[in-house]
Amino acid sequence: MLDMSKKVLFIDRDGTLVLEPPVDYQLDSLEKLEFYPKVFQYMAKIASELEYELVMVTNQDGLGTDSFPEATFWPAQNKVLSAFQKEGVVFSEVLIDKTFPHENAETRKPRTGLLTKYFSEEYDLENSFVLGDRITDMELANNIGARGIYLSENAELGANEIETSKQKILDCIALTSTDWSEIYNFLKLKDRVVEITRNTNETKIYIKLNLDGSGKNDISTGLLFFDHMLDQIGRHGNMDLTIKVDGDLEVDEHHTIEDTMIAFGELFNKALGLN
Ligand SMILES: [Mg+2]
Repeated sequence: MLDMSKKVLFIDRDGTLVLEPPVDYQLDSLEKLEFYPKVFQYMAKIASELEYELVMVTNQDGLGTDSFPEATFWPAQNKVLSAFQKEGVVFSEVLIDKTFPHENAETRKPRTGLLTKYFSEEYDLENSFVLGDRITDMELANNIGARGIYLSENAELGANEIETSKQKILDCIALTSTDWSEIYNFLKLKDRVVEITRNTNETKIYIKLNLDGSGKNDISTGLLFFDHMLDQIGRHGNMDLTIKVDGDLEVDEHHTIEDTMIAFGELFNKALGLN
């Protein structure tokens, strides 16, 4: 069941996908709309290569009041969504809190009122992330039992604004970076565990590879010398390799070795996201 549960990237908008307008922090006109550097190319790769549901979560202080009329918000918001959609980045939900900070609403980040539907077995929050440029985004990550990716120059920045234990928040930050290529690489690396099963009349093969392992191998092909050679790859490549092969050794070794290496090649292709 656990494998079926969905992982989510909860993504802040201002200061994360788009630059926060410097004067009043309010994106209320198309002239103020400027996207975060490199966000399109790497969000597109995240959306196409990795298995995360994408959810936008944003605080828009006083949206719908005189201080931030909805009519000034939606043109830029719609432009943001359509620009991402054209790059294949589609948000399954867009969650907007419209309250002011002083209202202390349950729905306002870092509080979790907008995210209650994700508190279910359907979702794997432990392996989900909140991406944001405020320490309160990291506090949200802590509050939902996820981890944080902090688009900040400095992990400590803003830490005095937080409501709960500062150390707990800092501990749940998995990555601090203002570079979307680093964010992509971090998320991608987490996923470099792949497995493959290949069965034919001559051989039955199972291989599991963790490219970011530590050289722990469990290899049995029925051919001790071949096991030894494969063990060298795992050990010296700092990978974890599990290889189980049941081949037609009563004929000869060649199917066992050939088919194992075919599966091994396909597995690397898969692990590196090339197909
Ligand atoms: Mg922000």
